[in-house]
Amino acid sequence: MRDLLGGKGAGLAEMTRLGLPVPPGFTITTKACNAYSKSGRFPPGLWKQVTEGLAAVETKSGKKFGDAEDPLLVSVRSGAKFSMPGMMDTILNLGLNDSTVAALGRLTSNDRFAWDAYRRLIGMYGRIVREIDGRKFEAVLERFKGTTGSKSDTDLDADALRAVVEEFKGLYRREAGEAFPDDPRVQLREAIGAVFRSWNGKRAVDYRNFNKIPHDLGTAATVQTMVFGNMGPDSGTGVAFTRNPSTGERELFGEFLPDAQGEDVVAGLRTPMKIAQLREKFPELYREFMLFAARLETHYRDLQDIEFTVERGRLWILQTRSGKRSARAAVKAAVDMAREGLITRKEAIMRVEPQHVVQLLLPQFDDKAKLIARREGRYLARGLNASPGAAAGYAIFDPDEAESMGREKKPVILVRVETSPDDVHGILYSKGVLTSRGGATSHAAVVTRGLGIPCVTGCEPIVVDYDAGEFRVGVKVVHRGDFVSIDGGSGEVYEGHIPTLDPDFREEADLQSLLEWADAERRLQVWANADYPRDAQRAREFGAQGIGLDRTEHMFMETDRLDLVHDMILAAPEYRRVSAEVRGLRSELETAKDERRPALAQRLALLEPRLEDLTRRYIGSLEKLGPLQRGDFVGILRAMEGLPVIIRLIDPPLHEFLPKYETLLVQVTKLTLARGDPEALTRTARSEEDQAFLEEIREAGGGDLARGIEALLPRKQALLEAVAASRETNPMLGLRGCRLGITFPEITEMQVRAIFEAACQLTKEGRVVRPEIMIPLAGHVNELRVEREALESEAKKVMEREGVAIAYKFGTMIEIPRAALTADEIARYAEFFSFGTNDLTQTTFGYSRDDAEGKFLLDYVDKGILPFNPFQTLDREGVGSLMRTCVQKGRKVRPDLEIGICGEHGGDPSSIELCHEIGLDYVSCSPFRVPVARLAAAHAKLREEVERSEDR
Ligand code: PEP
Ligand code: MG
Repeated sequence: MRDLLGGKGAGLAEMTRLGLPVPPGFTITTKACNAYSKSGRFPPGLWKQVTEGLAAVETKSGKKFGDAEDPLLVSVRSGAKFSMPGMMDTILNLGLNDSTVAALGRLTSNDRFAWDAYRRLIGMYGRIVREIDGRKFEAVLERFKGTTGSKSDTDLDADALRAVVEEFKGLYRREAGEAFPDDPRVQLREAIGAVFRSWNGKRAVDYRNFNKIPHDLGTAATVQTMVFGNMGPDSGTGVAFTRNPSTGERELFGEFLPDAQGEDVVAGLRTPMKIAQLREKFPELYREFMLFAARLETHYRDLQDIEFTVERGRLWILQTRSGKRSARAAVKAAVDMAREGLITRKEAIMRVEPQHVVQLLLPQFDDKAKLIARREGRYLARGLNASPGAAAGYAIFDPDEAESMGREKKPVILVRVETSPDDVHGILYSKGVLTSRGGATSHAAVVTRGLGIPCVTGCEPIVVDYDAGEFRVGVKVVHRGDFVSIDGGSGEVYEGHIPTLDPDFREEADLQSLLEWADAERRLQVWANADYPRDAQRAREFGAQGIGLDRTEHMFMETDRLDLVHDMILAAPEYRRVSAEVRGLRSELETAKDERRPALAQRLALLEPRLEDLTRRYIGSLEKLGPLQRGDFVGILRAMEGLPVIIRLIDPPLHEFLPKYETLLVQVTKLTLARGDPEALTRTARSEEDQAFLEEIREAGGGDLARGIEALLPRKQALLEAVAASRETNPMLGLRGCRLGITFPEITEMQVRAIFEAACQLTKEGRVVRPEIMIPLAGHVNELRVEREALESEAKKVMEREGVAIAYKFGTMIEIPRAALTADEIARYAEFFSFGTNDLTQTTFGYSRDDAEGKFLLDYVDKGILPFNPFQTLDREGVGSLMRTCVQKGRKVRPDLEIGICGEHGGDPSSIELCHEIGLDYVSCSPFRVPVARLAAAHAKLREEVERSEDR
């Protein structure tokens, strides 16, 4: 019905059918509009039908169109299948001319009202039918207001309005080249044509382009009897919701404005009364309205937003539609309606948007305070909405300071150009993070999403100046310690303090019920990405059914381990080289002829102490890291007892754990230069970084600067050399992922031992643990084969030693197109696949996940070159098709292959739908997105059910 009659026409027809008091009228179909658009003329027979329709309306209303005694007035309203608010035209008060205006005045005993209606008609008709510039009519009105000293239109009396009408007519004649038509039928015919034409007006076309609404739908035109709410104190106009649109409470909620028209409510010139007051003033009317509202809600089985008018004590319902509502109201209304039996549970699930769930679980700005901040000009800039939620705090640029302030419970917004693993301790203690660079999968974005901390990244308009301890946006400067407020849901950044409101999942009883219903529907499981026991615990509370990604390297970052990790990394390459050489020499020595033996032994004797030293540093560090990692794994496996936990072996390029090359270069240069003049360091220390370095030197020298320089210089030089040696041009495509484990097997072996020792310990305690070992970034089956064989033998050794059998799996991440394309080979060595779609998107598009968004990608989205940011929403055609192939090939070889996704897309509703479609077993996302994913997974399943039933 909506296709033919449009939303409005269909609603009116439906309400009429329900026996509601709808002003009599009829609707001309979208088909007629399309015919008119093609030929510029009414299709044959249309006018005859309009005349018949009008006659029926005259009978129903007991009035006659153009009658000098009791004239019928009508409106012609546009209305398409999809709501296009304000984009097309509507003309009111048709049927007025010099004789009917007098009748209207007499009938209402209100000449002012009649002349006001008339001048409105001429203005509206001139503007819409004849395309006369509306400002010319307004200018006339303004002039009259000026000469009569009136503030608003309502101050003009009947005589003034009569004069306005005369002027409007003159203006119309001059502009249109003919008189304003006094024949109501001409008015009606022209008005219908103009409403049809407004379908192809610029506003409407732009709107449809933007909202992807097809251009060939056309608009319907409804011809309807006018009713007036401005006919005196027993008239009025109102808007009401059948439930409170902000809380969802089951109560009539709305406003009523006596002696007014609909537009007066919107204009906000007078304060309307609450709908509850209507009960006291017009009890009869209120009772009647309650009845109709209930009937509409029951009929449409949804919260309704109803427009009504009272004309001299008589109630008319003008429009009803499904009401816009807050996240809270959406959940409460859906759950209540299902409990009331108005809708099914499945419908309740579909009534709540995943975005609603996000909103419900995050701190949000107090809307009023935000509006005030805008008005006060405190809006600064907009960046990427990297991690949702709102936060306010002191702008702090240094992660150490953020940590110490955070520990003192002071709210901090950490502001950085971008963040790195070195900053995590600061992030952990911040309320929010703001970066001027970096995209949706930048370090800051990923870490904050995991922690549920609001974050705005890539906020290019802000210029961060660490040395000055400030950031600038145009002429505005925010100093260290000034308050800033960020909204990670919208990307907005404000100066000053905008208060936030905090929710608690355990208290959200309605949401919990809805999600339980969703759980009963969905096929996809929902797991979480969590590195620490406390995150895992939270994920479990949110309903996670497993851990899909534990990034073990994050544990290396903790301050008490960083020195060990540095030692391990710095010694590893040299250890590898020297140990290979020693191995070679030893085997050569075994078979060498006598005359070569002394030389070989001599070389060996030189190398062995070196190897010993390297072993102490490399293997020694690993031996110390082992128990720490075991503790980490005990924690997370215990928190997830009984559920699968995917632990990923070390993945990022090693330089991420080391100080920056540039920083070291500067430090070594400074130390070298200061050897002759140590105090120069004190004199030139300006920034906080300089001060920290000064402190480090003093400490190294036991308080003495000169001694500190001598002690520190060789250490820094060695570090610089090691860092320089491990530098790569393309680290993200370099020595990382399984390549690391193959190159430095001792690291991953240590990790696997720690995992199995932890698992054995817990099993002995009587707990059920399900560790799954994930090897990252494999591209060729042989990488996986080699890694798995080495690691599984390590695992078996531990289980044998401990006398415990663990149910475990070995699997891999799919992050390289080649792995997806050769999934049948890969699956022979993997019991599970997990799509690392951050890397898979990077490697499929060839876009750097760290830089693309800041440099060109968002521009691409703006220009429509890409429909959306592929690092936020999975690219169906490219990445999605690789995933599909991968699933098919993988399952062909191993039908019970467990497949999931752990990239950032795992928490994005539209990506979750794709994961459902291609048959993944689970999606894994940050703990805070688990509830969203539970709902989105149910949506995917239910939508599929609907499509299937439609196909049948
Ligand atoms: C991925 O690449 O999608 C992934 C989850 O791994 P990371 O983000 O740690 O590279
Ligand atoms: Mg990855």
